[in-house]
Amino acid sequence: MTEKKDILSFSLDELTEWLADMGQPKFRAAQIYGWLNLGTPPEDMTNIPKALRDTLKEAMLDTLPRVRKKLVSKIDGTVKYLFSLHDGSCIESVFMRYKHGNTLCISSQVGCRMGCKFCASTIGGKLRDLLPSELLGQIITAQRDTGERVSNIVMMGIGEPLDNYDNVIKFLRLVGDERGLNIGYRHISLSTCGVVEGIDKLARENFPITLSISLHAVTDEARSAIMPINHKWGIDALLRACRAYYETTSRRISFEYTLLSGKNDSEEDARALARLLKNAFSGTGAPLHVNLIRVNEVEETDFRRGSRESIERFRATLEKEGVVATLRRRLGADINGACGQLRRSSK
Ligand code: SAH
Repeated sequence: MTEKKDILSFSLDELTEWLADMGQPKFRAAQIYGWLNLGTPPEDMTNIPKALRDTLKEAMLDTLPRVRKKLVSKIDGTVKYLFSLHDGSCIESVFMRYKHGNTLCISSQVGCRMGCKFCASTIGGKLRDLLPSELLGQIITAQRDTGERVSNIVMMGIGEPLDNYDNVIKFLRLVGDERGLNIGYRHISLSTCGVVEGIDKLARENFPITLSISLHAVTDEARSAIMPINHKWGIDALLRACRAYYETTSRRISFEYTLLSGKNDSEEDARALARLLKNAFSGTGAPLHVNLIRVNEVEETDFRRGSRESIERFRATLEKEGVVATLRRRLGADINGACGQLRRSSK
C-alpha cells in the first residue's frame, strides 16, 4: 500500500495538483477542500462521486483530532477538550465565549521541551510536533462539536509554537484562506516563551497576527531560574527582537507576566518591568501592554498565587508608570486545571 497522505495539511493549490494527477477537474478540489475544512469524512462528501470518495478514504491519513474528554464550565460555558490524535497521543484545547466572538486556545506540540518551571505542559517533555492539519483540526473539531463558529485563535495551549516553526507557518497560511476556515490574522495571537530566532523569522513573514511574549521576570537571574530558554536568549536579546518585530510589522506586542507570589510580584518588580519595556521600545511610539496572569497552581511545583491586593498593587504600579496592564479574566474557574494538567491526568 502506498503511504497515506496528510491531505488536510494541503493548501487548495496542493490539493488541486494532487487531484489533477489523478485526472480530477479543478472544481472537485474546491468541493473536497470545503468538506475537509468542515471535518467531513470522505464517505459523507455527498456531491463527490463514490469512486473518488473511496480513493480519498484509502489515501488519506486521518489526522482530525477526536474528542476524548470534554469538561464544560457551569459558570460561563467554557469547554476544555482533551483530544486524541491518530497516533494515540493527546492534546488540549479550550473553547471560550467572549462578547467579541468565540476563541479557541490551541496546542502546538504534544508536550513541550522548553522546561518552564511553573508549567504543567512541559513536565513529561515533548513527544512530537503537531502537523498543520492537527492545528487546523482542533478548530474544525471544536466547531463541529459546539456547532458554533470559532472567530479567534490563541496559540497558548500545550507546546511552544516557534519550536514547531514550519508547521505553524503552514497552519497560519491555511487558516486565513477564505475558502477554508477563513480566520483573519488580526484575530490570531501567537505566544512564545522567547525563541528569538523564531521571532526574527516570523517578523519577515509579516502576518498581521498579535505576538505575545511570555516574559514573567525582569532580571536575567530571575528569568533564567524559571525559564531555561533565557540561558540561550537573555532579556536584552529578547526585547531587541521584539522591538525589531514591531518596527517591521507595526503590530503591537503583548507581554505576558505570570505573577508568582514572593518571586516576581513586588512593587519594585512592577517598576522595573515598566522601565524595561519603556527602554526597549523608546522612540518607537509602540503602545506598551502587559497581560497579568494569576498563576495556576500546579501540584508538582511550589509556585503560589499572591493575594488579590498584591496583584492589584502590581497592576496599579504599572499603570502609574504608563504601561497598560490588564488582568487576564479567569474563564471556566470550575474546570480549571492549568494547561497540560488534563492531558497529564489522562495518562
Ligand atoms: N509556549 C508558549 C505558549 C504556551 S503557554 C509560551 O510560553 O508563551 C501560554 C501561557 O501560559 C504562557 O504565558 C505561559 O508562560 C503561561 N503559563 C504556563 N503555565 C502557567 C501556570 N501554571 N500558571 C499561569 N500561567 C502559566
